[in-house]
Amino acid sequence: MSGSFLDLRTLAFVLMLVTALLSVAMIFVWRKHKTYPGFGLWAFSNFTAAVGFLLVGFRGSLPDFITIIGANAFAFGSIVLSLEGIRRFRGVSSRKYFSLGSILLLILLFSYFTYVENNLLARIIIVSLMSGIACFLCAIELMRKDESGINNAYKQVGILFILAAVTSIARTFLTYRFSDIQDLFSPDTIQSFSFVGTILFTIALAFGYIILNSERTQNELQKTQSELEKLATTDFLTGINNTRKFFEISANEIQRCQRFRTSLSVIMFDIDFFKRINDTFGHAAGDKVLIEVVGICKKTLRGIDVLGRLGGEEFAVLLPHTDIKGALTVAEYLRAAIEKAEFKLFSETVNVTASFGVSGLLDKDKQIKTVLGRADSALYEAKRNGRNQVVLNLDGEPAEFAVALS
Ligand code: GH3
Ligand code: MG
Ligand code: MG
Repeated sequence: MSGSFLDLRTLAFVLMLVTALLSVAMIFVWRKHKTYPGFGLWAFSNFTAAVGFLLVGFRGSLPDFITIIGANAFAFGSIVLSLEGIRRFRGVSSRKYFSLGSILLLILLFSYFTYVENNLLARIIIVSLMSGIACFLCAIELMRKDESGINNAYKQVGILFILAAVTSIARTFLTYRFSDIQDLFSPDTIQSFSFVGTILFTIALAFGYIILNSERTQNELQKTQSELEKLATTDFLTGINNTRKFFEISANEIQRCQRFRTSLSVIMFDIDFFKRINDTFGHAAGDKVLIEVVGICKKTLRGIDVLGRLGGEEFAVLLPHTDIKGALTVAEYLRAAIEKAEFKLFSETVNVTASFGVSGLLDKDKQIKTVLGRADSALYEAKRNGRNQVVLNLDGEPAEFAVALS
């Protein structure tokens, strides 16, 4: 197919400039910003492509070994470097020997079709077929699912590689069927189009690499943020809400209940004579009891109830949509469950009890602190009355559970 709309030597020069500029830009990003393994190889692959296209431009003025075999080895090598970069980026082991072997194969085939039988068409077919295959491998590596799944950037750059692979393989067939090109720089529409395609692909790919990198940075940042948030809001020992989080949820919940005029209750409880457990069995055994008590509470409470550790062996439960009667029942249920539980500490089986204070949200209450304050004074009363019991303080003087229900 003859007739061309752009001069190939000029296009090779433009490609050289574009790839050289992109490689400088990517080396800058690589050195100055946080990048992940493989990014340096991508920057270097653009540099390799630039060398390849520079050498192509010297066709006729320098020895064939440099401008034909060297140039194509560099151009194809740049895709192989991209592939190695993608493998490294995705944490897949390198296929160094396979990659080097493929470049060596291209050099051998090119040497044959230059020195034994000088055949430009065969060379174009070989380099475009091998490049197409390499682009397909890049797409496969990118779109391979791993435990972290596949994100949008992987898909987008993967599609870009598939487009490049399809174009390259189409070039192979079109050249084989229609081209009668004798000299690389003689006018030929198929070759002009494929050079323009390569320019567009190279630019898009450089953006793709930068997006891949920044998407990973963003994901890591998000992960760190949510880990930090978890650390800042959960109790390290038991994994339930810490005081800060408990108050945050409670503040929101109290507003909601006031707006919709639904009931809300709180329970505060504290393990009885906990110091004795620590003193007798050691701190680690005390920790085990705390963890198991939390386990008992979780089993008893509903999904919407909020359990928090307010410090030491003192806990609070927020019960949305629960009236005092309901809260007293829950507290009594928890008290009985803790009393009944057997804690295996070393070779001994130990029983513990806890004291409970209950209160509910009143119309005049503005803050959760007020409700918790009443529950706390009820808890104090429960301790004073002999522990292992539930005391209610709705407004004013604390009253014992049994009295409250009657
Ligand atoms: P009371 O029945 O009056 O509540 O007596 P108590 O012994 O439970 O109360 P006290 O406040 O005297 O002791 C609480 C103990 O809890 C003292 C402290 O060492 C222990 N403690 C606080 N935090 C932890 C913890 O995270 N792990 C363990 N193992 N012990 C803790
Ligand atoms: Mg205690
Ligand atoms: Mg205490």
